[in-house]
Amino acid sequence: MKIKIENLTKQFANHTAVCRFNAEIESGQLIALLGPSGCGKSTMLNMLSGILTPTEGSIFFADEDVTFTAPEKRGVGLVFQNYALYPHMSVLDNICFPLEIQKVPKAERTRRAIEMAKLVHVESMLERKPAQLSGGQQQRVAIARALVKKPRLLLLDEPLSNLDARLRIEMREEIRRIQQETKITTIFVTHDQEEAMSISDAILLMKDGVLQQMDQPQRLYDDPANCFVADFLGNPTINKLNAEVKDGILYVEGQPMTEIDTAELPQQRKLIFSCRAESIRLQKAAGGLRATLIQTYVIGKEMIAALQIGNSQIRAYMDSDEAMPAGLEVTLRFRDKGIFIFDEASGERYL
Ligand code: ATP
Repeated sequence: MKIKIENLTKQFANHTAVCRFNAEIESGQLIALLGPSGCGKSTMLNMLSGILTPTEGSIFFADEDVTFTAPEKRGVGLVFQNYALYPHMSVLDNICFPLEIQKVPKAERTRRAIEMAKLVHVESMLERKPAQLSGGQQQRVAIARALVKKPRLLLLDEPLSNLDARLRIEMREEIRRIQQETKITTIFVTHDQEEAMSISDAILLMKDGVLQQMDQPQRLYDDPANCFVADFLGNPTINKLNAEVKDGILYVEGQPMTEIDTAELPQQRKLIFSCRAESIRLQKAAGGLRATLIQTYVIGKEMIAALQIGNSQIRAYMDSDEAMPAGLEVTLRFRDKGIFIFDEASGERYL
């Protein structure tokens, strides 16, 4: 089901939790609603489910205006962070429960619950109580319970945050698999950029109640709308250097970078020259920005160099066969991709 969000706003007393949010979500997509703590993700999700009524704006499911439709009439499945399973009921009864409320006949609800249990791979645990399940298994049951009513939209609120690191990766891939098998439009809330990048078709990135950018994960990474987006996505975090244009030349940490065209850049304004770790090439030869190697360290199969340049520290990937001792003076060259220039005060992107 296609979703359209128009000018959606939620005001709590004197705090605007969501401000003029506009987005269109294609049918059958897995969407990550991403942003730091307190940016309004849960408020957005609660307006989509109908738990909260917006102060302004509209929500359309397909072409139907559901802004003021009661939660139970929206056809939405919800999965919470703490799973919210009924502790005294078996797995089978938990999954069946929404159908019991709808007065679906017993034989049919058992059949449908078993079908869902198979989909999420808990069919061998139907008689167990939630306390006899691992966190990942409880999450699977919660997803089955949300899907058994055949909702038009599945909403997941931080579904993986109670799981340990290894299980988080396993379960996020499971959510992707289940979503692809059911083809149900799904929105999941997360503050974890890696989680959002790894499984979603598109990311809605929020800050202070305002949508910053909506796009495919790789597009957000390669073509960020502003400094916040560039900074929020990627590990290591994008590098940021102080920059300024004087007499038509860009100076980065006080050093001229003549290869950057400054025609579109404002003069004598504090700028940030930003570059991804993989966009930097270290060299021993002269030419390029001068930096000092602080240390090198290995993460998995990658070797990373920490460098001092002017008042800033940056990180760059390096070829592991290069022997470079700490304290070495090096020069930096930049690839075309992964280089951006932002306004320091507003975060607006110029390049
Ligand atoms: P987290 O990741 O920490 O759960 P979030 O992005 O989901 O955060 P929300 O829970 O949507 O953020 O909250 C957005 C803002 O609105 C926060 O500043 C929060 O304090 C405020 N807020 C949320 N609910 C209410 C409420 N009922 N009354 C007043 N303020 C609220």
